[in-house]
Amino acid sequence: LLLAYDPARRLARVQISLERAVVNAQMIYDILDMEPVQRQKPDAQPLTISNATVELRDVVFSYKDGTILKGVSFTAEGGKTTALVGPSGAGKSTIINLIPRFYDPNGGAILIDGQNIADVTTMSVRQNLAYVSQQPYLFEGTIRDNIRYGRPEATDAEIEDAAKLAFAHDFILAQPQGYETPVGENGMTLSGGQRQRLSIARALVRNAPILLLDEATSALDTESEAVVQKALDTAMTGRTVIVIAHRLSTVVKADKIVVMNEGLVVEEGVHDTLARQEDGLYARLNNLQATGVRGL
Ligand code: ADP
Ligand code: MG
Repeated sequence: LLLAYDPARRLARVQISLERAVVNAQMIYDILDMEPVQRQKPDAQPLTISNATVELRDVVFSYKDGTILKGVSFTAEGGKTTALVGPSGAGKSTIINLIPRFYDPNGGAILIDGQNIADVTTMSVRQNLAYVSQQPYLFEGTIRDNIRYGRPEATDAEIEDAAKLAFAHDFILAQPQGYETPVGENGMTLSGGQRQRLSIARALVRNAPILLLDEATSALDTESEAVVQKALDTAMTGRTVIVIAHRLSTVVKADKIVVMNEGLVVEEGVHDTLARQEDGLYARLNNLQATGVRGL
């Protein structure tokens, strides 16, 4: 929402060159297992997953100084899609960072199926999460390696199934070495849409019940956007999805919309209801888009 005011837009050119870069493993943000592990309690047990409901309960958080989340509460129901919307800087990405425990809240709690994620093993939390970021990263290695990062023990058949579901299989087979084609500096060049589809295949091969999704705002051409969207729809099916939503189509379809502003949830509901609350933030953002300001 309110992309027109998003400082990140000014960085768009920088991001395009970043997207083309192959970065080293330490920088990989969409590979949850490679991020530093927060302290866990000595007696921590693995998370027990039932319907994969995620609940934020009065979550307070600061990176350093300045409180970013000022008591955020909402529930992302198991198997449903919850869309986070709100102006840039509202704290949406911060929420997505807290769920895999890249950071821990300063107050309140995040629960998965009623268990505080701070009380169970961090690894078990992350095993139940997949993450698709706006800027998917690829490693030096083959296409197959790049998908396998989602779950190192995945079989070749599982990797190819995931690629099919992500609409990546055909463009992969069109490469001279198919799945063994190297990507990266001396390998094939992938379009933005192809990178996204590899990243979605990576998430699918992980087969986690909870999907965290930061929708791309940068322009894919219309055709790749449509196919990426189809791949995402597949990835979202049957999962608990928390999506930072920029596309109106995602927001309208969401089972729940959580509207954030300045570190607080200011509205919650479904599109039709929120859009009718004319003095509300959601309705204003929605109207802006209707009058041609790009983005939600
Ligand atoms: P949104 O995703 O809604 O645009 P973010 O969660 O990215 O919002 O950011 C919320 C606030 O936190 C912003 O003021 C941003 O500058 C700040 N912020 C985000 N990431 C960091 C970080 N790693 N260190 C310090 N401040 C951060
Ligand atoms: Mg963000």
